[in-house]
Amino acid sequence: MQVKPATPRAVQFIIKVSKFCNLRCSYCYEYPELGDKTTMTHEQLDRMYEHIADYYASLDEPTTVKFIWHGGEPLLPDPEVYWTTFARQREIFGPIRVENTVQTNLTVLDDERLRLLKEGFHGVGVSLDLFGGLRVNLAGKDSQDRVLANIDRLRKAGVKFGGITVLSRKNAGHIKSIFRFYERLGVSFRLLPLFAGAYPDQHAGYEITAKETLEAFCTIVDLWLQSDKNLTIAPVTDHVRSVIRYLTPGMPSSFYSRRAWETAVVVNTRGEAYADAEAYDPDHSYGNIFTTPLRELFASANREKSLRASELRMAASCTKCPYFGACSGYTKGEYVETFADSPRVGDILLCTVERGLLQHIEKRLRETGLYGDPARADLDRLRAERLTTEDPTLQALSFAG
Ligand code: SF4
Repeated sequence: MQVKPATPRAVQFIIKVSKFCNLRCSYCYEYPELGDKTTMTHEQLDRMYEHIADYYASLDEPTTVKFIWHGGEPLLPDPEVYWTTFARQREIFGPIRVENTVQTNLTVLDDERLRLLKEGFHGVGVSLDLFGGLRVNLAGKDSQDRVLANIDRLRKAGVKFGGITVLSRKNAGHIKSIFRFYERLGVSFRLLPLFAGAYPDQHAGYEITAKETLEAFCTIVDLWLQSDKNLTIAPVTDHVRSVIRYLTPGMPSSFYSRRAWETAVVVNTRGEAYADAEAYDPDHSYGNIFTTPLRELFASANREKSLRASELRMAASCTKCPYFGACSGYTKGEYVETFADSPRVGDILLCTVERGLLQHIEKRLRETGLYGDPARADLDRLRAERLTTEDPTLQALSFAG
């Protein structure tokens, strides 16, 4: 009998290769560092690869290691930097599967960079807000026309890409046009609510509330359900899957735990590693991945602090949520909400957008008549089991919401 190989688990390393950027988008959380030309060296990248490869080679289960190249603008360095480092990855990682994707503002695109996007990277994310005029260059000029022209070049060259649209008060009123734009192109996209800025009041004038964000997401759900195009729209289509799981008896449950599996690590330009939720907070740095083996970073006291914070966020929001188990709680585990209008327990903002979105999707799916009552008993039993194995602090907090 042939044994089916286990599906590899994935881990992402978000690489801040350099903060240097040719744009000055108003909301950028890297704003104070966008003029800094410091770039990771090949020696530093090699040390990082060695530490990552050693760790995942020592595990019993196969792992896909995904590098997400971020900046600043990661396409400003000479493309040769990437060809060289991809070759080093092949040498250092050996049989471990490695993928590289890049998130670019797509304002600089010559033939060499086009070839790099087509043949070097496994995926390309293009930042594009479509409305609002917040993505400007040093002189304050909107970069959008140039990005749209370069999107045409990507399409003509057959480069597959997705869009990343930051949702702010400046473009939330145009959500239908944003959906139609991507639908017309047949391009999947991520709708990313505005997140904390680099300094207080950075977002004054275009800050978005949880209520406005939820309305925009619900509109996207309705448009997606009516559309003939099967676009993937993060986070909406993931949540549709969660609600189908919730409404379908006997579907397996899943509960997110970073303690069980680290899904994403942010690596800052000088090598400091963090969970996404606490990126750049020195009190939560796991340590330096250029100089320290990954196993030691994962065993650090600061990582333990970060894990506890992730578990407390989930305990405060998820353990009393009817969708927990169908929704894994990943969003609460990995992201710190900053909406001023979200309810809170102590310092922790409770889940409003995700849960509201799941409720809206449930309502829409029930209207189809395809779904009856959810398999409540299974979920309740699993949640109860989980609570009895958790730390008492978490249990106490879970009942505070
Ligand atoms: S509280 Fe939010 S993140 Fe947690 S399970 Fe419910 S919907 Fe998902």
